[in-house]
Amino acid sequence: MQKVKLPRTVDAFQTAQRRLDYDGIIQSNILKRLAESTVDVKSDAEVTMSFKVDEQRLAVISGKANVTVLLECQRCNENFEHHLNVSFKCTPFLSEEKAALIPEEYELVDLNEMGEVDLVELVTDEFILALPQVAMHDIKDCQVKSNNLVFGEIPEEEEKPNPFDVLKSLKQQ
Ligand SMILES: [Zn+2]
Repeated sequence: MQKVKLPRTVDAFQTAQRRLDYDGIIQSNILKRLAESTVDVKSDAEVTMSFKVDEQRLAVISGKANVTVLLECQRCNENFEHHLNVSFKCTPFLSEEKAALIPEEYELVDLNEMGEVDLVELVTDEFILALPQVAMHDIKDCQVKSNNLVFGEIPEEEEKPNPFDVLKSLKQQ
């Protein structure tokens, strides 16, 4: 199937009534907030989304997205590629009263001033939420190996285990 560019914004209610599905990409250069939260965005985002109206008459957007970003390892300061895979199920935020009745499985998504859902913002938010708290290589790929921990360049703020703590805990056993 030919992939198409996703629309930037959609009327969630009309789109849900028409039960539309999208399978497309968001170009990396418009994932600006993701680029600001990482070293770089290395690929376009692949996105699938489907729109439907549920039993409660809520417009529901469910989908999946993935993208490759460049992160800086907090252990060795080298950059590494990280694959983000997210899935989401959302419904537009309409009012506090209505939001109280919305099932917990749905995330709430804000509407823009046109009353539409900004799909780029939605997917960007999901990616940013999925970023690791502390970016680090898998230990096997990391430049900081256990055998050069003593001599290697370690950021000073990094907490090094104190060997005496290990002795202490051994004694306590
Ligand atoms: Zn590393």
